[in-house]
Amino acid sequence: MHELSVTESVLEIACKHGEKARAKKVTDIFLVIGKLSSIVDDSVQFYWDFISKGTLCEGATLHFKRIPAELICLDCDHKYTLDDELSPCPRCGSARIRVISGDEFNLESIEVQR
Ligand SMILES: [Zn+2]
Repeated sequence: MHELSVTESVLEIACKHGEKARAKKVTDIFLVIGKLSSIVDDSVQFYWDFISKGTLCEGATLHFKRIPAELICLDCDHKYTLDDELSPCPRCGSARIRVISGDEFNLESIEVQR
């Protein structure tokens, strides 16, 4: 059910921005999701179709952009990005790593029709 509350907040923000822009309709919504986020695109889309009915955002297309995660090695301070699965430090092989970014979920921008 995590996706439902996330989707609701996206809807709320997008509608607010749409109203501010005096939009007739919000047509596109661009979301940025960190690689390590547990958010599932399909679930967000599913809830979206359901909760956006009757709002300014009804029928808007959701665009998902996955961004790579950034990690730091706690043994050698090496910073690296992750394209795939969690993996040990590529420089020293340590598994003592910390995630700096990569689990975010943000509304990047919206497009509206006036
Ligand atoms: Zn290291």
